[in-house]
Amino acid sequence: MAKKEKIIDFNSGWDLAPAPESTSHIRLKKKYDLYIGGKWVKPSSGKYFDTINPATEEKIAEVAEADAKDIDKAVKAAKKAYDEVWSKLSGKERGKYIYRIARIMQERARELAVIESIDGGKPIRESRDIDVPLAANHFFYYAGWADKLEYAFPNRKVKPYGVAGQITPWNFPLLMVAWKIAPALACGNTVVLKPAETTPLTAIKLAEICEQAGLPAGVVNIVTGAGSTGAEIVNHKNVDKVAFTGSTGVGKIIQRAIAGTGKKATLELGGKAANIIFEDAPLDQAVEGVINGIFFNQGHVCCAGSRLFIQESVYDKVMRKLKDRMESLVVGDPLDKNTDIGAINSKEQLNTINKYLKIGKEEGADIYQPSCNIPKKGYWCKPTLFYNLAQSSKITQEEIFGPVLAIQTFRTVSEVIAKANNTPYGLSAGVWTDKGSKIFNMTSQMRAGVVWANTYNKFDPASPFGGYKESGFGREGGLHGLSAYLKFD
Ligand code: NAP
Ligand code: MG
Repeated sequence: MAKKEKIIDFNSGWDLAPAPESTSHIRLKKKYDLYIGGKWVKPSSGKYFDTINPATEEKIAEVAEADAKDIDKAVKAAKKAYDEVWSKLSGKERGKYIYRIARIMQERARELAVIESIDGGKPIRESRDIDVPLAANHFFYYAGWADKLEYAFPNRKVKPYGVAGQITPWNFPLLMVAWKIAPALACGNTVVLKPAETTPLTAIKLAEICEQAGLPAGVVNIVTGAGSTGAEIVNHKNVDKVAFTGSTGVGKIIQRAIAGTGKKATLELGGKAANIIFEDAPLDQAVEGVINGIFFNQGHVCCAGSRLFIQESVYDKVMRKLKDRMESLVVGDPLDKNTDIGAINSKEQLNTINKYLKIGKEEGADIYQPSCNIPKKGYWCKPTLFYNLAQSSKITQEEIFGPVLAIQTFRTVSEVIAKANNTPYGLSAGVWTDKGSKIFNMTSQMRAGVVWANTYNKFDPASPFGGYKESGFGREGGLHGLSAYLKFD
């Protein structure tokens, strides 16, 4: 095992000058209503809930809580818009609206990025460079397909479902909304969407953008609320298709709820991805990929590379490089452009992560956290490694959804394939090696929807994304993402 590990002392003179993003250009109201039938309407219960900034614990705004009556109103508005307007428009005309939404998102990109970081805690560098541009790209990409569905599926007659009920999580609030709304509209469906309770603001901003784009009333309806609001959407009789991204637990509830109803579903659920480093890999790049794989978005990523497998012969070297690199990570203010790891999305999620940190220690694993400072107020978790742990340990098996990496070793290819596939999930995986043949062998044997080779967390609207096993079914992105919103004769 390891000789004494040398840790670079980044604490001497490593402090970076603050580089805060300005917030003076964003406009937020104190209170937001529901966006139904092209109008902002008050919730029938009169109830509102707070959305807070997880980095400061301060309230940002109040948001309406939709109940069964509001959902009924929203689904009726979507059905009316489908019957009377959207289903009658040509693909070319639908495409124009979707392009317009994409362009306005680009124009308002800075505002969207800042609001995303304030509401959810993610570093501004990520919301600015990844979430918002990718979200706009999804609209651009699907706008292009709207008038080409007959080429997408040659010799097949395709029809939209009608009203799509869509439910999104808090980790990529705007991006998940884009993954859902863009293909639904391109295929001719109308939408009722509920964003997650802790991060509703960019979905509300998207409703404003739909308004600005002149989208016909009722084509997109944004209803905020808690899990019970989501359940009302799933169970409404006039919702023809359910698209859900979230936890495996809620995915199972939804599948049970729609069984026998004839409703179609796409479920994008949890994951516990294997990131595998072979001894012949370019180790510096691999370590960078591991850091990105688990610490991107505080580890609140369904496809996070949360299980690392290191070939035994390079274990000591990789561990030293990993620890050195972690010393240089900046944890703190999401609005500072130097920040690598922002705030944990909510107190509830921080409690969940802390519960797993405790379990890991109790299970006897070794733990490593860098010496970084974290702010006093807000919800924070230092980036964490667990190593010398068992395949059966909870830390290895369960999705933590935080900046916590479980590290194991392996000797042979067959051993690592068996270990990597030993999980109820199957969303993604990463392979680091110099050998192309090894990559092909691995990618064909990993039971995962996406396998990255010598890179990690790369997304493109043209590329389908989705899971095996308890990670769900159906694909979002690419042609596959279109077929999820179409009936085939
Ligand atoms: P979650 O609790 O399942 O919530 C997801 C969404 O469903 C939220 O909008 C939530 O509302 C709503 N919801 C809760 N209970 C519901 C019910 N009974 N019926 C209908 N809707 C309901 O998941 P989360 O904790 O927000 O998100 C984290 C999970 O999502 C992780 O497991 C992660 O792996 C997964 N995820 C998967 C992907 C993917 O593409 N595969 C992407 C991102 C995240 P509230 O916000 O009010 O609770
Ligand atoms: Mg919030």
